[in-house]
Amino acid sequence: MHTKTLTELRAGLAAREFSSRELTEHFLRRIRQFDGEINSLITVTEEQALAQADAADATLARGEGGLLTGLPVAHKDIFCTEGVRTSCGSRMLDNFIAPYTATVVEKMAAQGAVMLGKTNMDEFAMGSSNETSFYGPVKNPWDQERVPGGSSGGAAATLAARLAPAATGTDTGGSIRQPAALNGVTGLKPTYGRVSRWGMIAFASSLDQAGPMGLSAADCALMLAAMAGHDDKDSTSLDEPVGDYLSDLNQNLEGLRIGVPEEFFPDTLDGAIADSSRDALRELEKQGAKLVPLSLPSINLSVPAYYVIAPAEASSNLSRFDGVRYGHRCDDPVDLLDLYKRSRSEGFGEEVKRRILVGTYALSAGYYDAYYRRAQQVRRLIRDDFARAFAEVDVIMGPTSPETAFKIGAKVDDPINMYMADVFTIAVNLAGLPALSMPSGFVNGLPVGTQVIGNYFQEGRILNVAHRYQLATDWHQRIPGAFA
Ligand code: GLN
Repeated sequence: MHTKTLTELRAGLAAREFSSRELTEHFLRRIRQFDGEINSLITVTEEQALAQADAADATLARGEGGLLTGLPVAHKDIFCTEGVRTSCGSRMLDNFIAPYTATVVEKMAAQGAVMLGKTNMDEFAMGSSNETSFYGPVKNPWDQERVPGGSSGGAAATLAARLAPAATGTDTGGSIRQPAALNGVTGLKPTYGRVSRWGMIAFASSLDQAGPMGLSAADCALMLAAMAGHDDKDSTSLDEPVGDYLSDLNQNLEGLRIGVPEEFFPDTLDGAIADSSRDALRELEKQGAKLVPLSLPSINLSVPAYYVIAPAEASSNLSRFDGVRYGHRCDDPVDLLDLYKRSRSEGFGEEVKRRILVGTYALSAGYYDAYYRRAQQVRRLIRDDFARAFAEVDVIMGPTSPETAFKIGAKVDDPINMYMADVFTIAVNLAGLPALSMPSGFVNGLPVGTQVIGNYFQEGRILNVAHRYQLATDWHQRIPGAFA
């Protein structure tokens, strides 16, 4: 059952080939068998999963059900789940049992999804390797000496090892797409505001967006259909009609204009990675798409702009963790200041502290104009670059990540090098656009991903492009040997 996609499992449930209980027990067994090695889950909610599976079986027996009835899903541990620890990968929230459930989780549950557990992640979603997690690094199922990427590395590794057939992630600068690329799975960051952020622990509120991660574009379409929509509880969620992502999948690509920015294929890029994305472009060309060379001149400023804006927002968002209301509190504080200082010093890891310091500095009087305002101006230039490009093309494509999965430990002492992991993904968040990463080959036995970027609310279009590509290729079906 674990080699099947979510779409196939859905058909299997409908045809009564197996029950949701059998399916759920199968994945729980795999988690017991493999999670010790991979460390991709922080919490496994076995009892709750079996109860949800039984309820789903009863629903299916009545001939009823929603988009995800009886299908197991693993949620990133950034989504609040009532009654279940929600750690965000941090010691700060190691003892935090959420009193309510995030809209994303609730909407998927309302469509009948079964929650298997909560996936490992970089602390507060800050990282590109999962090494900043308080719960230890996640191993890449393709090579356990390597990272799975981040921050949704737990989700991506869970999928690659086939410990769950579907997962949720969040993407502030690349955290869905980069780990998807490094694990050979498919992940979609929707348009900013397409999916509610309510109950999703905030990192950088103007960039954070939740999205689906799965074994195929069709699976992501199924999950997005359940997740997307306006939410009164999130004032930045947009009141736009949700697309018919499933029926959009099959449209042919005749006449599709694919923009190919020169900035996504710099001379410094690893040749084999560039080739993998160029091969993907050629396949789409065969299906009738036209390639349009173009330039996004400001995009090279996206990493520096992001590392002012994201930390600035993080420094503000993370001020709520003060040791008073919830989360970690130090022992025996002598006074209030001591309580704040020690609770935060002990609760946060090094990378989170680095971001809080950088962000607080960038926002302070005298530096605000030099850094924060400037970064916001760059952000506008990047948005304008994309707007100009989308006047000429339907989608934009290039590699997702400049490299394959790197060795655990290789970049921990070099934050700037780590930040460059998102060089191709960050601009999309700054502009608020939707983008997907799909498996497009292997280099030295490690998966490579290609990114498909769409204009605002064009999730259906990019899922369609990826689906047509996946009908013609089998990269997304490969399973790391030890987990077949
Ligand atoms: N790697 C980037 C960072 O560390 C992006 C993380 C994310 O998208 N959550 O901030």
